[in-house]
Amino acid sequence: MKLNRLSVKSLCLLIGAGTLFLMLLLTGLFFALTGDKMILLCGAGLTACALIGLAFLVLLFGKRLSLFTNDLCRILDGMISGNEEPEELLDSETLFARIGHRLSRLYNIMQENRRKVDAERAELQMLVSDISHQVKTPVANLKMVTDTLLSKPVTEAERTDFLQGIRGQTDKLDFLFQALVKTSRLETGTIRLEKKDSLLFDTLAMACSEIVYDAEKKDISVSVDCPEDLSLYHDSKWTAEALFNLLDNAVKYTPVGGKIVVTVEQWEMYVKVNVADTGKGISESNQAAIFRRFYREDRVHDKPGVGIGLYLAREIITMQGGYIKVSSEVGKGSVFSVFLPIR
Ligand code: ADP
Repeated sequence: MKLNRLSVKSLCLLIGAGTLFLMLLLTGLFFALTGDKMILLCGAGLTACALIGLAFLVLLFGKRLSLFTNDLCRILDGMISGNEEPEELLDSETLFARIGHRLSRLYNIMQENRRKVDAERAELQMLVSDISHQVKTPVANLKMVTDTLLSKPVTEAERTDFLQGIRGQTDKLDFLFQALVKTSRLETGTIRLEKKDSLLFDTLAMACSEIVYDAEKKDISVSVDCPEDLSLYHDSKWTAEALFNLLDNAVKYTPVGGKIVVTVEQWEMYVKVNVADTGKGISESNQAAIFRRFYREDRVHDKPGVGIGLYLAREIITMQGGYIKVSSEVGKGSVFSVFLPIR
């Protein structure tokens, strides 16, 4: 018979039987030793008292236990429905109170998880509505152009125009799709950044090589000032991607004949990479918003883009323990500063 498997009722009966047996045994023993009948009388009286006391204790304990069980059930019901914080159980230092504290902690953990799930759901809803918003225009354009091509006779020149339009819209959709895949892989941890000691100069060279052609086309000068031997603990490929996004914007939003200057400074805890341009600048009121997914300023809709570059860049840099800052003046230019931790 295992004690911890016994029900409370059987345990009480067992204690009662044990007490009765012990009292009878002691009484019998004393009576056998003394032969005094008073012993029998006292023994019977004491046994009766002990049994009554025990019954009283059992009743009291049973009542207390049932009160506690009711409290516990009420609290658990509240927790299941999710809208009540468990109130403190009456006892402050007993076993019941310890259960109460743990329930409180469990409730807080459940609430935290619930909040996280709600936030993720809201984020997902926003993402889906953002994507559908982004996809709507190119898809509508594609339908319109293909309908026209199918239903009307067009000249060779018009046909080329329409096909170029189709190409532009499919490029936009492809870019959007690639960017979304990248961000979702980064966010869900499917892609892990692999930080290792490597030369920042090489990372910058990788990023710059991709904008040189576009910069030349707009006659924008690009200068880079970075120590060639500066080794930094970072993910070179993804950092190059983030820096490319900043450089690509600098080219896109800087007028013909402008200037892009990239400088690197070594601080005590961080390495700071500045990407400065002489472009159109960003008003102070928009400077926080430009890092949001799909945010584009109203005045840039003549330029290609879907508003994901800065979001992705910030995601990549924060995942490495760094951050991005912007300072800008409308009409004069912008400076994007990337701070990457030394270790
Ligand atoms: P996209 O360039 O595709 O619009 P981004 O996320 O890269 O998306 O940038 C968000 C917005 O921030 C841009 O639409 C633009 O309004 C502004 N922006 C970013 N970089 C610059 C810059 N160097 N100069 C001026 N405006 C910028």
